[in-house]
Amino acid sequence: MRHDYPHLLSPLDLGRFEVRNRFVMGSMHTGLEDRPGDAKKLAAYLGERARGGVGLIVTGGYSPDRTGRLTPRGAQADDRTLATHNLITREVHEADGRIILQLLHAGRYAFHPLAASARAGRSPITPFRTRRLTRRGVGRTIEHFADAARRAIGAGYDGVEIMGSEGYLLNQFLVPGTNRRRDRWGRGPEGRRTMPLAVAAAVREAIGPEALLSYRISLLDLVPEGQYWDETLALAHGLVERGVDVLSTGIGWHESRVPTIVTSVPRAAFAPVTKRLREEVEVPVVASNRIHDPQVAEQVLSSGQADLISMARPLLADPHLPAKLAEGRANQVVACISCNQACLDNAFEGKRASCLVNPRAGHETELVLSPVLERRRRKVAVVGAGPAGLEAAISAAERGHVVTLFEATKELGGQLRLAARIPGKEDYAQALTSWRMRLFAAGVGVRLGTRPSAQELQDFHDVVVATGVRPRVVDLPGFTTDPAADGPGPRVISYADLLEGRAEPGETVAIIGAGGIGVDVAEYLTSPLPSPTLDTDTWLQHWGVGDPQGHRGGLAVARRAPVDPATAADGRRSREVHLLQRKETKIGAGLGKTTGWVHRAELRHAGVINHLGVTYRRIDAEGLHILEHEEERVLAVDTVVVCAGQISENALAQEVTRARRGRSPRVHLIGGADVAAELDAERAIRQAVEVAAGL
Ligand code: NAP
Ligand code: SF4
Repeated sequence: MRHDYPHLLSPLDLGRFEVRNRFVMGSMHTGLEDRPGDAKKLAAYLGERARGGVGLIVTGGYSPDRTGRLTPRGAQADDRTLATHNLITREVHEADGRIILQLLHAGRYAFHPLAASARAGRSPITPFRTRRLTRRGVGRTIEHFADAARRAIGAGYDGVEIMGSEGYLLNQFLVPGTNRRRDRWGRGPEGRRTMPLAVAAAVREAIGPEALLSYRISLLDLVPEGQYWDETLALAHGLVERGVDVLSTGIGWHESRVPTIVTSVPRAAFAPVTKRLREEVEVPVVASNRIHDPQVAEQVLSSGQADLISMARPLLADPHLPAKLAEGRANQVVACISCNQACLDNAFEGKRASCLVNPRAGHETELVLSPVLERRRRKVAVVGAGPAGLEAAISAAERGHVVTLFEATKELGGQLRLAARIPGKEDYAQALTSWRMRLFAAGVGVRLGTRPSAQELQDFHDVVVATGVRPRVVDLPGFTTDPAADGPGPRVISYADLLEGRAEPGETVAIIGAGGIGVDVAEYLTSPLPSPTLDTDTWLQHWGVGDPQGHRGGLAVARRAPVDPATAADGRRSREVHLLQRKETKIGAGLGKTTGWVHRAELRHAGVINHLGVTYRRIDAEGLHILEHEEERVLAVDTVVVCAGQISENALAQEVTRARRGRSPRVHLIGGADVAAELDAERAIRQAVEVAAGL
């Protein structure tokens, strides 16, 4: 079979064994690791990825002891947990995959009162005070790593990975800000390296000569007192001397104020730093962070930046990604959009991780899309081609049903198409491309520019109504989005008109509603052009990332100052933007834990003016009248963009039901057409797949 990924799909000898390709499924906590009773579900989840062709799987993080657990009941590599893990290792080995267990000691990131680290204190992202490990305590922790590693090999794992990056315990030992010890585990860079190196040596001895030892090394800490490059290199050499076979590279601590994995980070932004490491060491080096696109991954390998590519979220989105490349079906890969919504945000909230574009991820045994027998095939109409409609149509057709997808406009994508226009969300367009390709491959009949009547839909066995939403209109004096009613004072436009290019914003803009879309619109109106996401050097400068040779932790700028709109060089930044909401909560409070802070930082940097606790009064020739903290104010703006949520478009469901003569067609209402409040793509797509699974 012809394919265009010669590097990505070539095998590699890792010293202890060979892997069939250069894909590493990076460690990702799903929540299934925390309960030994979920081992079957974990085996199904990882087994599906092994069958999908990934070369090497790294499990979610398991703590070597109780102190290092991420949460009070978090995963630990103890006897009880690992007793069932032969289910997992067998499933992966039967699919010719390789799997290693990650050992992760959370240190000061532990979300419980037992937290312990090199130094006492509290991390900025956890509420618990961390205890300082005693000298004996450090020695015991090293033993715990070795014991846990030995147990992992006993459970059938091909090796282990030591988590030494992202700001967890071993990374905390390396950095002066979190290690001020005066004993042998601290005192200067060499002393701070002693603990991680001792862990590597002890683990190598525990697992024996045949098992693989990978170490996740932090290349850029991106915290003010992080490591210099020379320190990182000295650590890398020390690790290799102690028997580490593979260096997997990590970027940024969890508390870092530079984004490293969200969708606005340029693709492969940090691969050049991985290359610098690769040039210095003899062992294979793994690149990670926003290497989602197989073509980008191939380029990273072919240009000598890395030996292997770590993908965690892309393999959640599409477990069969490697197999699809090998079979020449790259255009059918389900694209991860780095939204973090259903994976990391769920994990940080203690929920099971899944995937926005693949709700089956982590639910392989519960949400099953089985093929239907020919005589049970149903004629299915899906109306509306937003994310919910697209996924329902594809999932139903892949099961064998005969599906027609109707869309009133001339384009696929619904609200997601608008999201793709936001600077920093360029990858969303890739999801639309992959949906388009999958529709075609699944044999869905697509009728664009068509609004089927309730009568026409009577010929189908099932009608899935995914007609989405329309923007809410704010009903106050002077508010009208009717262009014919243009008079003096600001123009009122909807976010949809703005993002579709049907209405142009002026120089001073008020945004009504600071939910996800209000925040997006504020960024759309103020972010520099072209989007920094499309140019790595500009983006690194934008976020203050510098050379770790001269800047501790790779941070050239500790805190970014807001841009002054009066002196800003480009058009968008010189615009004055006010973002308003009625609630008193912080702007974007409902956004994801892993992404909300990035958006807020961007708005601060762009000089967007926030107004909380606002009451809207009216619009007139003077501008937008509001009451803010008991004070009457007029915002003399020339444009008001309404981002006040949505209303469901669901009339068709009732019309089809009313026109029904017998029991057919069955009507299914999904996505925003079902519930517009809290409209969110994760729920919409999951509902679509559940409906398709039940047809
Ligand atoms: P949303 O999150 O519900 O926000 C709309 C905001 O408009 C509300 O927070 C509300 O805030 C305000 N509002 C509601 N009714 C109003 C009225 N009658 N008059 C004035 N203000 C009113 O909806 P959205 O921003 O349209 O986003 C839709 C969905 O997409 C959400 O689930 C959102 O999370 C998701 N989304 C997420 C992202 C992201 O994660 N980055 C980006 C885009 C969209 P007040 O009542 O406080 O004024
Ligand atoms: Fe990617 Fe979003 Fe799915 Fe996470 S939820 S794997 S970021 S598409």
